[in-house]
Parts: sequence; structure tokens; C-alpha cells
Amino acid sequence: MNNTSSLKLVCGLEIHAELKTASKMFCGCKNDPFHAPQPNCYTCPVCLGLPGALPVANKRAIEWTIKLGLALGCKINLYSKFDRKHYFYPDLPKGYQISQYDLPFCYDGVLETTEGPVKITRIHLEEDTGKLLHKTVNGNKVSLIDFNRSSVPLIEIVSEPDIRSAAQAKEYAKKMREILRALDIADCDMEQGGMRLEANTSLKESGVTTLPNYKVEVKNINSFRFLEQAISYEIQRQTAILESGKTPTQETRGYNPEKSETFPQRSKESAEDYRYFPDPDLPPLRFTNDQIEQWRTELPELPSARAKRWIELYKIEARFAESLSTNQEKAPILEAYFKAAQKSSLDTNKVASAIDNNRLVLVTSIDLVPESFASYQASIATTAVDSTAIEPIIQKVLADNPDIVAKYAAGQHQVIGFLMGQVMKELTIKPNPTELQTLIRATLQQTK
Ligand SMILES: [Zn+2]
Repeated sequence: MNNTSSLKLVCGLEIHAELKTASKMFCGCKNDPFHAPQPNCYTCPVCLGLPGALPVANKRAIEWTIKLGLALGCKINLYSKFDRKHYFYPDLPKGYQISQYDLPFCYDGVLETTEGPVKITRIHLEEDTGKLLHKTVNGNKVSLIDFNRSSVPLIEIVSEPDIRSAAQAKEYAKKMREILRALDIADCDMEQGGMRLEANTSLKESGVTTLPNYKVEVKNINSFRFLEQAISYEIQRQTAILESGKTPTQETRGYNPEKSETFPQRSKESAEDYRYFPDPDLPPLRFTNDQIEQWRTELPELPSARAKRWIELYKIEARFAESLSTNQEKAPILEAYFKAAQKSSLDTNKVASAIDNNRLVLVTSIDLVPESFASYQASIATTAVDSTAIEPIIQKVLADNPDIVAKYAAGQHQVIGFLMGQVMKELTIKPNPTELQTLIRATLQQTK
């Protein structure tokens, strides 16, 4: 957006992520579409949509969806159900997708970003579709379908249009991936399509409180960088249209990373087009408050909470706390280093900085931390020779030992060892011996 424009971005994100349950959403087939040895090997009558096949909901996938909702501060619908969303596409053999319409498992949550909170409208659970492969076989262009992905559990997280910049959209999406990974419910492999981003964008005059009368949806974005670029492009494109007195078309667009441009795909259907209705094969679901509260107690500490705690407890700078706290597996090992630093009255923030800059290489198990920390401590103790601080001490030692200085002058260079010992007695750190010796020799030369 150029500086003279008073138009502001209005943006909400829809994030799809495949859950990493052992089996698919409504059948017992293996849920492993990206590592399958061949196409269509993890299929059965249910996920192929054959007549008469009956779906059974995956309990674990439901539990994980609700736990994600709890982690994002959502309210949980104690009564919920699955609905059929009707549309035709070759990768959807049933002619409908099992999804959730008016009673999603989770609603009204929030995710904090540095530019302010982004409210979460809803999180629902659905099934993924098959995957179309466009190939040339024997010189003919063909479209093939792989149903290994058909009916893989897929969550959709819908935000309110609270996002005000392309950078904030990127931060929100990245934080969402951190949370999904921290909960250990999704791998979020973006290149493979395990996590997909969609941005609903429009612009409004600053000060206007109502939403714009149009919305452009940019679909199937598979990287955080492309998300940021696509939104920036839309801001420019829509600004130009609005400033010429027209309204951008309500439509779905794709993103071309090579050109850094979005392009029109189709005009948008409204929700009624899908003719949603409750799936008669799947009974409605009821949860109790006790069950929800039990799941809440099972949530792990999330990266944002951990960063906050580390800042307070170990006085670690926010930038290090934020970058280090995201790895759920390494977190206990990192914390063991901070505890060790605190115990030996070492500057914990320096240790955090050393880890963040790979000057301190983390061990793989918590049992190895004491040894690793001790050698780190020794390494910093022997390298940190501050010549300006040591110089006066050397001067003092030389002044106190004129006979030794005389011996050195007379060629008995081995006495330097005695002088080094005297200097070291005065220091609180253990200096690098070679550097210290060089400094003492230099001082001896000067005093000659
Ligand atoms: Zn199946």
C-alpha cells in the first residue's frame, strides 16, 4: 500500500492441517499419505466412497481437535455433529465431504501476535480429499487419482478478520504451526500439503468500522513467505482498483510464486451452495465438562507460555526465549542448561545466547547436560582474557617480585611459570594460559 492511501487491510486466515493419527478419520486405513509405497494402497470401501460403506469417527482425532481448541482458549461445544458438504470433484468419490457446519467442536478462541490478538472464529474437523495427479502416460495427458489421502483427518482453523498486515498474517500462521507441533497432533509439512493456508483479504478506509462489501480469497498457499507475498500483492492490486473508484470482484484466487502474483480462479460459492445436512451415518457427539477439563489438564506447556516463564525465571532476553522455546522436544534440555547456569551464578542470558548462536551445542539427553555445561563453563573461563583488566594485575605482581623479574632478565625464562601462578591467584576467572603468558612477556619487555 502506498503512503498516501488511507486504505487498511482486513484479513482473516483459514488454516487446514492434517492430523497425524495412526488411522484415517472414518475408517481403519493407515493415515500416512506422504510415505505410502504406492498410490491407492491405503484404501477401503469407506475412503473410496463405495455404496453401503459406513463411516466410524476416529476418537483420537476428535480429542486432538478439542485439545487444540483448549490450547487456543476456545469454548467447546458439548453437543456436536458431523455434516455432509456436497460438491462434485473427481478427488471426492462420495460427492460430499464429511465436515462440520453449524456445530464445530471449538469456537471463540484467540491467538496473540506482536501486532495484537487475532480471534479464532471456529475450529472444525473434516476429512481430506484424494489427490489428483496430472501426468503424461504413453504420450497422452491424463489425470490420475491417489486415494491414500482420502479421509485423512483434517482440521480447519478459521480466524476473525482481525489481521492488519501481511507480516501479522505470517506471524499468526507460524505461531499456529508451533502450537500444532507442540501439541504433537500434526506434522504440518507444508511442501507436501500437510498444512495449507488461505487468506481472505479486503481493504477499507481507516476509521470505517463495518466490513468491506467484497472479499478476495487466496487459496492453497503452501509457505509462510508466499502467504506474506500474496497478501502484499493483494493490498497493491485492490488499492489500485478501489482508488479508480471500482470495487474488486468477490472471487477465489491462486498464488503464483514465480511471478509473485495472485491470479483469478473462480467466483466464490456461498455456503448454501453446498447443501449441508447432518450426516445420517454418524451419530451426534456429546461431551461432559469433566471430560473437557481432563483434556485441559493433559495439555503440554506451549511455546509462548514457556518463553514468558523463561524470561521471568531465568532473566533471558525475549528474543532468545522466543526463538529457543519453540522446540518442544529440546525444551527440557535447554531448561537444564539454564538451571545449571543459575546454580553456578553464571549469566543465564549468555548461556541462552550461546545456544541460540550455536556456540554451545546442545546434547541429546538431559543426563548429559551437567558434563556439557561444565566443559562450556571451562571454555568460556579460559578464553575470556581481558588484557586491559589483567594488565594492572601483572604490573602489581612484577612490582612485588623484583628478584624474579631480575632472574627473567638474566635469561632464566622458566620463572614465567611462577609469575603466571601469582597473576592467576588474583583473578576470578581462569584465563587461557597461552594468552596470559604472552601478556606477561609483553609487560616484562616493557619494564626492562
Ligand atoms: Zn479406508
